[in-house]
Amino acid sequence: MNKSQVIAGTIGVCAAALGLAGRARSTGHTAAAAGVLAGAAWFTAGAFAANTPIMGPVAATGPGDRPRAALTFDDGPGPSTPAVLEALEAAGVRATFFVLGAHAVRYPEIVRRIHEAGHQIASHGFDHGILVFRGVRHVRDQLSRTEAAINDAAGADAISPWFRAPHGFRGPATWIGVRSAGYRMAGWTAGVFDTAEPGVQTIVDRCDAALRPGAVVLLHDADGWRTGRARPQTAMALPGICEAARRRGIELVTFTDLLETA
Ligand SMILES: [Zn+2]
Repeated sequence: MNKSQVIAGTIGVCAAALGLAGRARSTGHTAAAAGVLAGAAWFTAGAFAANTPIMGPVAATGPGDRPRAALTFDDGPGPSTPAVLEALEAAGVRATFFVLGAHAVRYPEIVRRIHEAGHQIASHGFDHGILVFRGVRHVRDQLSRTEAAINDAAGADAISPWFRAPHGFRGPATWIGVRSAGYRMAGWTAGVFDTAEPGVQTIVDRCDAALRPGAVVLLHDADGWRTGRARPQTAMALPGICEAARRRGIELVTFTDLLETA
């Protein structure tokens, strides 16, 4: 499901809730009407607020008492991933890549490079489809196909059991599917909207402001919807981002390493 389909579905849920609530109210069931509206609000908040635990626990931040933070990259690999890897290597930084299965199939050699460079690989699902209205079987299928693609590209030890939902959007079945497949859900503390391509310096400045102890910064080395799209601004911003972290005394580590210091 793409974004507009999910928006239409959510409007449908809210419209149905409004209709039900209206009917309950007109028949004198005011408490029932309030309950239906509260349920719709609860569903909407749980589905679209990235780190809320309403749809299951999400690990999104490290401890705030150690000067460490994590850079994370979604949607790759893609044409900009090699430049991202070179910038990270030059800065001596290890990061975490939430890889799309479909892109791992297209660029297996880049997945292998990510792994061989010592970065962490995690799952962003197979096709970036939004999971809000999807069932457990679909969620598990997204995870297993991605896992197979990463295994084929870089070996069975390459993937770590973290899953970040596309856009952070989740439905009632997402967490059940994720947990039953042996994964945990990952979030983030700071999205810097590099996908809008606001300019290299703006990306650096937003990351600079976001780099606090425990921060998980969300960046993108590709495009979840358009395979083959490059992210040159993100790659070019990395030397400045890594320098900003150094200036702040923040060590950049993988997502797992950040959490394990908790
Ligand atoms: Zn994504």
